[in-house]
Amino acid sequence: MAQKPEKPEDICPRPDVVPPQLTQPASPPIYTAAVYRCESPDQAARLLAGEQAGYVYSRDGHPNADMLAEKCRRLHGADRAAVCASGMSALALAVLARLREHDHLVVSSQLYGRSLELLTSEVGRLGITSTMADTCDLDATRAALRPETRLVVVETITNPLLRVSDLASLAELCHAREAALLVDNTFASPAVCRPLELGADLVLESLTKIMSGHSDVLLGLLCGREECWDRIPLVLSAWGLTSSPFDCWVAARGLGTMALRVAKASANALLVANFLAGRAEVEWVSYPGLRQHPDHELALRQFGGTFGSMVTFTLGGGRAAAEAFIAAAERIGFFPSLGDLSTTLSHPASTSHRSLSALDRRRQGIGEGTLRLSVGIESSEAIVSAIEEGLAALA
Ligand SMILES: *Cc1c(COP(=O)(O)O)cnc(C)c1O
Repeated sequence: MAQKPEKPEDICPRPDVVPPQLTQPASPPIYTAAVYRCESPDQAARLLAGEQAGYVYSRDGHPNADMLAEKCRRLHGADRAAVCASGMSALALAVLARLREHDHLVVSSQLYGRSLELLTSEVGRLGITSTMADTCDLDATRAALRPETRLVVVETITNPLLRVSDLASLAELCHAREAALLVDNTFASPAVCRPLELGADLVLESLTKIMSGHSDVLLGLLCGREECWDRIPLVLSAWGLTSSPFDCWVAARGLGTMALRVAKASANALLVANFLAGRAEVEWVSYPGLRQHPDHELALRQFGGTFGSMVTFTLGGGRAAAEAFIAAAERIGFFPSLGDLSTTLSHPASTSHRSLSALDRRRQGIGEGTLRLSVGIESSEAIVSAIEEGLAALA
């Protein structure tokens, strides 16, 4: 006789038993489970204490975050790596794990806008003080250090002027004063620069951008040396900075093509930078791969011949020219982010740098006519002709 059918309402509440995996799937599963079954109170206690390996609660860790973190750890040659909900949560993780009241921070005055907010006004509310410095100037950075400075935060390539930080010299400077160097490598990606090799202690990436590469997830990475890691797992879970399994799965897939995407986009960017440098409508162009760039020699040494996909340029005609260019260069989307497959552009004065006064913007070299391109992987002909359409509107 056939088995007695189960009641419909008894089927769903019961957790499924996962069939044993006898063969390896080509693509990893997405582990959406929020919680994992424990065999006994003793085992639960051992798992939660970290005495036995295994997942219990996904805020503490889950397989998709660990698989992605492991790939990133190897890319950066790090001892440890953690994936969290966004680039900003990776920065919060570093701050909350490494700093306490009365500590002091030195931060690059050219950091990503939200990073600057977090590292000045937000940490100020916790009794942590900070000093902004031009970290492309080693003497200015040295002068900003104090005995209580615990952390120096810089970006490998700054936004939007694309200045390059001398990471080996900065690391030396920090270590002589017992401060750690945290490098936000988002504009470079590990395909262009690996700051830990140059002496940095911690590296941050907004995985949202180039590493994931399709503008369809929000994720961050923190990786670094073992000595910096003791409080990281606790802070990640206690402050709830955990990533979503689905996002980690999507990002791991994007990471598979990062090397190809960065190589193609960087080659396109060099071509675009050279094209713009030869145009009368363009006042100046910043790209670390151009010989006339102030940090070109350093970039050559530090990046070894690939200079990334970001190109910034200023049109002579100010805001009106920027607006006319954006409207006419129809095939280049105005997206205030970066690192997508296709070429996109942003207008720093109205987006990333809108909170600065016009004077501060001018001091940094950002005008109303400044545009920032995130060069994509289309054919270089398509990109150049789209730019030509934009420039034609300025005639
Ligand atoms: C986008 C970005 C961040 C923040 O990352 P999110 O993933 O958006 O939180 C930090 N630093 C830089 C340089 C960025 O471009």
